[in-house]
Amino acid sequence: MARPLSLRSRFVSLTLAALLGGCASSRQPSAPSASTRNFKVVTTFLPITLFTRAVAGDCAIVTPLIPPNLGPHDFQAKPGDLAALGQARVLVKNGLEMEGFLDKLVATAANSQLEVIDASRGVATLETKEQGDEPGHHDDHDHAEAHDHGAVNPHIWLDPLRAVQQVETIRDGLVKADPSCAEGYRRNAAAYTAQLKQLNNEIASQLKPYTGKTFIAFHDFAPYFAQRYGLNANYLVDVPELNPSPADLQRVSTEVKRTQLKALLSEPQEGNRSFNALAKDLGVKVVVFDPMETATEQASRDPATYLQVMRRNVADLRQAFGQ
Ligand SMILES: [Zn+2]
Repeated sequence: MARPLSLRSRFVSLTLAALLGGCASSRQPSAPSASTRNFKVVTTFLPITLFTRAVAGDCAIVTPLIPPNLGPHDFQAKPGDLAALGQARVLVKNGLEMEGFLDKLVATAANSQLEVIDASRGVATLETKEQGDEPGHHDDHDHAEAHDHGAVNPHIWLDPLRAVQQVETIRDGLVKADPSCAEGYRRNAAAYTAQLKQLNNEIASQLKPYTGKTFIAFHDFAPYFAQRYGLNANYLVDVPELNPSPADLQRVSTEVKRTQLKALLSEPQEGNRSFNALAKDLGVKVVVFDPMETATEQASRDPATYLQVMRRNVADLRQAFGQ
């Protein structure tokens, strides 16, 4: 890998790639059809990019709108993003208000041939929990950021079986928009959903001994994961860019003592410093649970990243429970 580009040059190269019709992709000339088919799909953030790449295979050229190292909460649209949207035939999003910036961008791009796939369609959702908060707590924070979660928690991709539904919705949308590669989309989706189901079985048996236990994450990303495996998800802040209030810190500290947790679950992104300090005060470890809102450029290219990161997350979670 070349040395990492600055954010700015990532944006420039993303835009250039979009303008050049995705020719910047490093695909081998001998690989079949993606560049010759030239069917362009734009995705929003990491899990949607991974799922869409898994389904697309060589049938379509997939370009993430958000650079993989930025989460949807950090994202500010640039004029260049309109170029990618303007040329795409399909846009795939997570939905559930995760991509707060998107509607305006799509309207501005005014691409009449653009089909939008909402990968949350048909997925059973959970409401955002007002956890241990005093009434009015939310008004204390500036919720103007794009990652404001709204009334429904959007982190459905962290439940592997809901992820299966998302992949199938993406498959159906791509088959409809690009029937000439229908067989490819179906075959790719079947292979990937089989892996997701296998992952779910693995996680279920690994977490079975901890049924009913509580874990504490940095932000409110884990209710679907917790529900799937019979756990309780607690968290410090609603969204990653918030700073915890003294009441938040007090609540988590009480909870750690009550549940005898051995570790807090941090995230591989900035803004966790107060969480790390809290863990230190409480004498517990910090392990990472990656909600996959961001990744390196390289990891974002490989759909297997989802499986690898989830396996690592579960291994770290078992450490937090004291194994
Ligand atoms: Zn989030």
